Amino acid sequence: MQYTDEHIAWLYVGENAMAQPVRLMYFQNTLHIYQADHSAFVLKWPIYSIQALPESNGRKCFQSNVSQGFLEIPHAHPVLLTLEKEVQSNQRVFTRLWHQYKPFWAISGLILGVALLYLGVTKTLPWIGMKMISREYEVEIGQKLFDTFLEQEDVEDSATYWLQAFAKELKLSPYYPVQTFVVSSEEKNAFATPGGFIIVNSALLKDLDDYTSLVALLGHEATHVNQRHGLDNLLKSASSGLFLSLFIGDGGGISSALLQQADMLRQLSYSRSLEREADELSMKMMVLQKIDPRGMVRLLTTLQKDESNEPVSFLSTHPATEERIKDAELFIKNLGKVPLAEHEKLQFYWNCIKKHI
Ligand SMILES: [Zn+2]
Repeated sequence: MQYTDEHIAWLYVGENAMAQPVRLMYFQNTLHIYQADHSAFVLKWPIYSIQALPESNGRKCFQSNVSQGFLEIPHAHPVLLTLEKEVQSNQRVFTRLWHQYKPFWAISGLILGVALLYLGVTKTLPWIGMKMISREYEVEIGQKLFDTFLEQEDVEDSATYWLQAFAKELKLSPYYPVQTFVVSSEEKNAFATPGGFIIVNSALLKDLDDYTSLVALLGHEATHVNQRHGLDNLLKSASSGLFLSLFIGDGGGISSALLQQADMLRQLSYSRSLEREADELSMKMMVLQKIDPRGMVRLLTTLQKDESNEPVSFLSTHPATEERIKDAELFIKNLGKVPLAEHEKLQFYWNCIKKHI
């Protein structure tokens, strides 16, 4: 059979193979190859797989990396022009890479997308949350966290009464109605919820030797409250829950996401810089009220001594005590001489607290 028709191309498959006359169709970025005589489908070559070869027998030649063999196409073939143009643009490295490794790109894109979404959720949402949550609402959240916490703990009423009288003498916060509580616990710990609930465990109080240590402790916790460290921390760890509730709806959703974090309160730990800020602002508050800022050094030293016998939770959730003591001493040294006053009321309330724990 002789084919002089310019619509016929020649396909060579396998070594020393005879040329096979074929018809070509190009659509959907693919070259479709059919037998010339009875139009049976033979092969299809995606455009990205096709490369041009040197001419032979006065015809243009092409091969594909999806199958063996090559094609010879007469110059006058109607598909040739389109095919050459497409092949040429596919010779560009990026286009070819894109087509050849589509699944790889799809998976990489997906991973990148998830990573960006994660960053969006964990970095942006806490930031938005900090802007959105008013101080009033923060107190409400703190109240809910505190109520949840109280379901598992016993408040020591008398000691709490005297601790509250003690705290009232201090200007702990210009923004929040700070409320202090003593709970009976063998764990030496103290922490604050967002919005101003400060919880001091009885075991920690028993250890302190003088009222200035307690002022330092309350000042430290009040700084976490005032600077919204706790809220920031909770928002970060609750951000996936927050993400959902922002989409599902109301602020109630947000607070229920936060409530799940209630148990984490005790283990809340802050970065070194936030702890230093809490220690320093506590000492500044002491100086402003003419209370000896060395109370901070006494507090840390007492707890450090305890730690040699048993773990002190308050310290374990905070950075190295040794370093904090040095920082506090340096801070006090830089203050120079500060005027101090007698604080009979604080001393009296301190004695009452000690009597009731
Ligand atoms: Zn702290």
